Amino acid sequence: MESKRLDKIPEKIVIPLRQHNGFVCEALVAKGDEVLIGQKIGDSSEYNSSAVHSSVCGEVLAIEEAAHPDGNKVLSIIIQPSDSEETVPFTPAKNPSKDALIELVKESGIVEHYGSPTHTVLKPRDKKIDMVLINATASEWIGGKYTNAKEYASQMIDALKLLMKAAGASKGAIIIGKDDSESIEAFEGVEVDGKKLLVAPLVGKRRLDHYFKDQESNILVASQKRIYGKNILNFFTYNVTGRKVAIDQNPTDVGVAICGVKSAKALYDAVYEGKPYYETVITLEGPGNCPEYMLVKLGTPFKDIIESCNPGEVGKIIANGVRTGVAQYTDEVPVTKGTTKISLQKPEDVLRDEAEACVHCARCVDVCPVDLIPSRLAVMADQGRFDECRQFHIQNCIECGRCAGACPSKIYILQLIRYAKNAIGMAYEDLPAKESSNLKLGCCGGE
Ligand code: SF4
Ligand code: SF4
Repeated sequence: MESKRLDKIPEKIVIPLRQHNGFVCEALVAKGDEVLIGQKIGDSSEYNSSAVHSSVCGEVLAIEEAAHPDGNKVLSIIIQPSDSEETVPFTPAKNPSKDALIELVKESGIVEHYGSPTHTVLKPRDKKIDMVLINATASEWIGGKYTNAKEYASQMIDALKLLMKAAGASKGAIIIGKDDSESIEAFEGVEVDGKKLLVAPLVGKRRLDHYFKDQESNILVASQKRIYGKNILNFFTYNVTGRKVAIDQNPTDVGVAICGVKSAKALYDAVYEGKPYYETVITLEGPGNCPEYMLVKLGTPFKDIIESCNPGEVGKIIANGVRTGVAQYTDEVPVTKGTTKISLQKPEDVLRDEAEACVHCARCVDVCPVDLIPSRLAVMADQGRFDECRQFHIQNCIECGRCAGACPSKIYILQLIRYAKNAIGMAYEDLPAKESSNLKLGCCGGE
């Protein structure tokens, strides 16, 4: 599906110097400087960081703290855009080596939507990656230069090959949603190294290794049920590969690099067009004329995107999904590399009910995809019994929000669980990783 482009030029663009986990960038420009599209305007010498670029031509108005969609204030470069579309010279990379690709990813400012700079995922310190996965189950179709779905699918395969080369991985796969007939049709029959692709369904106990052998290929496209949630990486890794990731570790600890469609496409553009990461596709939902997908320049305030949809009076703005996202206190926040979705609610649809007492209906237990007991965790979190939360495997929660959505008493279960997880994270950060309890379940990805 093609993305609509936001054509209107915003009054200002806000580029936060932190759009990733890790070190904040330092500004490379000053107030009054003129900048071009694609110009690097912030960077850090630290490995765990990623450059930021201007998405417009214009004048730097200020470098100051500004509202960020994660709820904090972050030092940001404020730019007044001009009408010009002039870019810095874009130089495609010619057959870059593995190390050159890693450097290109960092220099191009490519970051996973879940926060990690992509080069740290592909080349984590002291770890070896042998498999790269592109999680395309959210089926974002990224704006770009392709004329049909097959061409898009070929570009994604090429992007996967680049990611595998950068990581030094021998195997790679693109995972699409099992109900996403548009993607399945696009990938089915695409040629990879002289063979026609067959989309492999991940059902039952079949994991990728089964299909790598069956299709005698190191590159696969597989389909599975979409897993919703904020912290799904470990769970996703197990469901797709069968590799267990301990609590407090991440997929790179078991040799798996997980990238998103956006970062894969950004690397493709960086290599073949020399273009840094300065625009992105987001999904929109709400009243008015909201298109499903929109291609926007990073740093565009939510306000300009919302106005383009004519939604009428808006009661609530939520970044990154109603169930697990962050409600915004201002529409001045900008789209960042971590923004995947903007949801708008009419005033009458905003939930304002007070939480009531638990009626022990167990609906939250029934819907939990990782077999936790959300009602009990919520009580323990509320009472500050964090050690007990840990004993009940609260760290396995993937923050999907299903428990809160199912609760007839409107208890803020997810917020309480997040509160406890943060407290536990700070208290136990020096302890070695603990084996996950849910890994035997594999309950969400299969049939
Ligand atoms: S406890 Fe709630 S938010 Fe966490 S995984 Fe279970 S249903 Fe999802
Ligand atoms: S769904 Fe809500 S009311 Fe029902 S057991 Fe869970 S917390 Fe209690």
